[in-house]
Amino acid sequence: MPTSAVPLFRREIQVAVLASGSGGNCTYVGDGHAGVLIDCGISARQVLQRMAEVGLGDAPVDAVLITHEHVDHVGAARVLCDRLHKDRGRWVPFLMTRGTRTALTAAVTPAAVEQVDSGATIQVKHLVLDAFPVPHDTVEPVAWRVALGGHHVGVITDLGRPTTLVEDKLRSLSIAVLEFNHDFEMLMGGSYPWHLKQRIRSSHGHLSNDQAAELLRRGLGPELRQLVLGHLSEQNNAPAKALAAAAGVLAEAGAQDRVQVHLGRPRDPLSPITLPARDG
Ligand SMILES: [Zn+2]
Ligand SMILES: [Zn+2]
Repeated sequence: MPTSAVPLFRREIQVAVLASGSGGNCTYVGDGHAGVLIDCGISARQVLQRMAEVGLGDAPVDAVLITHEHVDHVGAARVLCDRLHKDRGRWVPFLMTRGTRTALTAAVTPAAVEQVDSGATIQVKHLVLDAFPVPHDTVEPVAWRVALGGHHVGVITDLGRPTTLVEDKLRSLSIAVLEFNHDFEMLMGGSYPWHLKQRIRSSHGHLSNDQAAELLRRGLGPELRQLVLGHLSEQNNAPAKALAAAAGVLAEAGAQDRVQVHLGRPRDPLSPITLPARDG
């Protein structure tokens, strides 16, 4: 007879960055009983294929959380909504702010939209979802934090500058996908047209490696175990530069052994990052 009680169904949190970058963004967060996709900026076919590729083909999808109307975040929404309905026999709601909803073209608007207020907390099954505002050049952009299994997971990309609110949310996370978009010198010395350089570097554009490092420095919390560097520009950044910026902050805080760093990829999914749930 076994002397120690081993739970039969130990729950595990799974986070799979299926795509990250200006070519498309999509992340799965779930625990085997409930799950969400955050953004769907690659084709619906790619979303489902990449989920299957990393062993999440049958994983629950209870909602799709949209951050903003840029096509690299919402491009597949209409088709994915129809596909999920067809495959799973029910409508999966696409959660987005009113501003994002009004900015969507008909070509990408999903059949099942549920509007949320920026700053609202919503519950889907046992998942607690926070939509919090970020400064980005769209109508009503948000980033999402998901609470499950006694942990918080967040995807924080597409913001022009760190804010106190973002810092606070980051501080609560066990698993974070954080934007390290560009290296400032590479952007300014690169081939992008002037107006695009200005847009990216503006306070409503994207975070540079230095800005992301500063955000991480201020928002590094005691729970953080896994950090994915996301939305890297293929033209204006180098993985080594982003990694060095993040590693510098972690080393400075003595957190380099505790926090594992990953690089989000535009064309391949990352294997799911897992953490044991704390609440059984
Ligand atoms: Zn984006
Ligand atoms: Zn964007």
